[in-house]
Amino acid sequence: VTTRELLLSRIRDVPDHPIAGVTFKDITPLLADPEAFAALTDELAELCVRHGATKIVGLEARGFILAAPVAVAAKLGFVPVRKAGKLPGATLSQAYELEYGTAEIEVHAEDLLPGDRVMVIDDVLATGGTAEASLELIRRAGAQVAGVAVLMELGFLGGRGRLGPALAGAPLEAL
Ligand code: IMP
Repeated sequence: VTTRELLLSRIRDVPDHPIAGVTFKDITPLLADPEAFAALTDELAELCVRHGATKIVGLEARGFILAAPVAVAAKLGFVPVRKAGKLPGATLSQAYELEYGTAEIEVHAEDLLPGDRVMVIDDVLATGGTAEASLELIRRAGAQVAGVAVLMELGFLGGRGRLGPALAGAPLEAL
C-alpha cells in the first residue's frame, strides 16, 4: 500500500458530528497506529524541509499533535497558534469569520520574527478560515510564509481558493 492509502485507511468518517449533516473526519485511528503516525510525521517533515521552513506553526488543537513530532523530526522549533485567551505572554491576535459568527486566534509575538520562514500544519483544511488567519499572524509578525501543510483538504468547502491570496504563491500541501 502507498502512504496515501495507509493514511486514508486510518481516517474515520463520523456522520452527524458535531452537528447533524456534517461528516467529521476523525484522525484518532491514525494517531493510534504507530506506522501510520510515523509515515504522516515523515511526510510532513519532508515537506517542511523541501519548502525551506525554519519554524513550524501548529494550529490548536489537532494541529499541535501533528506539528510537534514534525518539528522534532525536521529539527525546527514549534510555535503554537492558540484560541484567544490561552497564551500567557504578549500576543498578536487575529479575528476571522466563521459560518456563524467570528473566532480569534493568537500567537506569542516573540515566537515569530522577521527572518523566520514558517510552515503551518493542521489536520484538516475545511473552509480555510483558520489557516488564513494564521497566515495573517505570520505576516503581521514580519515573518515569511513557507507554506501550509495539512493531512486532509475538504475540497468541496473551497478552502484552497479562500487561502489563495494569503498564500501569495506559497504552497498548500495536502497529503
Ligand atoms: P476551517 O477554518 O473551516 O478550515 O476549519 C479548520 C479547522 O477545523 C481545523 O483546525 C480542523 O482541525 C477543524 N476541522 C474542520 N473540519 C474537521 C473535520 O472534519 N475533522 C477534524 N477537524 C476538522
